[in-house]
Amino acid sequence: MKLNLIKRLCLMALLPAVIASIPPAGAHEAPAAAQKPYRPLSLDDIERFHGHLGPSVILGVRMGEDAVLNHGFPRCFGIKVEAVCDAAPPGSCLLDGIQLSTGATLGKANIERKDGDAVEVTMRDEKRKARIQYRIKDTTRHLLDQWKKDSLPVDEQARKIYGMNAADLFEINESTE
Ligand SMILES: [Zn+2]
Repeated sequence: MKLNLIKRLCLMALLPAVIASIPPAGAHEAPAAAQKPYRPLSLDDIERFHGHLGPSVILGVRMGEDAVLNHGFPRCFGIKVEAVCDAAPPGSCLLDGIQLSTGATLGKANIERKDGDAVEVTMRDEKRKARIQYRIKDTTRHLLDQWKKDSLPVDEQARKIYGMNAADLFEINESTE
């Protein structure tokens, strides 16, 4: 009985804090989760989501992190991604890296894959009407070809790509629409 009273008093004391923590309706354009500071993905994060490490998934992560961290593109909402890549793994693993880093996902229908000759990923910031495009540099392609020739395990290829930055890996073009 006494314990119940204490519990009730504690709850009453907490109530104003709980009410104050509820954001007013319409205060944010995107849900709060989409506005949380972005934490760069570790190899472990990527492996947990994708199930293994390979160069394609890391390339996707590097593209998305560059757009979000270096070019101010939004995560989850207000971003649209169009990715030209293979329809099947390993080429399509790129899509998981992009989804994980940008939060543009199949479930929210703001990423789509298209057929094409070479990998080309276009991200749009709907609010700023900005566009950024990533193409894999010839130097990156040669590196991947060489690793394949040398039979370097795919997880080691992934670690090497992880250690490189977007400017080294891609031709990057930013423009407004
Ligand atoms: Zn994969």
